[in-house]
Amino acid sequence: TNEEDWTRSDAYHNSFLHEPDAVLDWIVKNSKEKGLPDIAVSAAQGKLLNLLARSINAKRVLEVGTLGGYSTVWLARALPPDGKIITLEINAHHAAVATENLAHADVADKVELILGPALDSLLHLSSEPVPFDFVFIDADKQGNLDYFKQAKRLVRTGGVIIVDNVVRYGRVADPEYSDANVEGVRTLLAGLKGDDEVDATTTGTVGDKGYDGFLYAIRK
Ligand code: SAM
Repeated sequence: TNEEDWTRSDAYHNSFLHEPDAVLDWIVKNSKEKGLPDIAVSAAQGKLLNLLARSINAKRVLEVGTLGGYSTVWLARALPPDGKIITLEINAHHAAVATENLAHADVADKVELILGPALDSLLHLSSEPVPFDFVFIDADKQGNLDYFKQAKRLVRTGGVIIVDNVVRYGRVADPEYSDANVEGVRTLLAGLKGDDEVDATTTGTVGDKGYDGFLYAIRK
């Protein structure tokens, strides 16, 4: 099955399960016009993040890697009126476009965007007085293990940590293949082996962003 078929597959499923969404369509268009790369989560993945956050009644969410705020909007929409999401982004242009997009989606009051290298920002965050319920890690893949360790420090017992792009068309498991992104995922997996502070699994995702996967972990 080729890429076009998977795009068709997502479109088919979404046509039954997703409502038309002019706000998200505008954000996708605006992000493209402002030159952002096409590397946001898909609509189906965004909605899955939203549903997962709602499943645990998440109130405090942390996101590593904002880009144009597409996934941020899906997550912000999962929150109660007094909920909050902190999102971390290193690139000032991405952050500026995200700020526009978040305002357009009317979720700006729920979102705090922190500009800078994610690890620096994470080191300044605290689990006090209230820890995070849900963390979505989707920035530079070389940082995955560092971000995951910080996420474990910041999230409550029973909280969820999700890492995107951990399958990469199966290249992560291909011994013949190497690049910085794949190595970042391998380092994460090696770091998680035997980690008794979380329970985790990888679930493949396929659709209009190709073949990839989420790592889903629960903090013990
Ligand atoms: N989560 C977004 C979505 O689905 O809409 C997509 C995020 S995109 C895949 C990754 C983002 O991480 C980019 O905007 C990139 O600039 C940012 N990034 C890369 N390295 C970073 C770092 N060290 N600290 C913070 N953000 C970083």
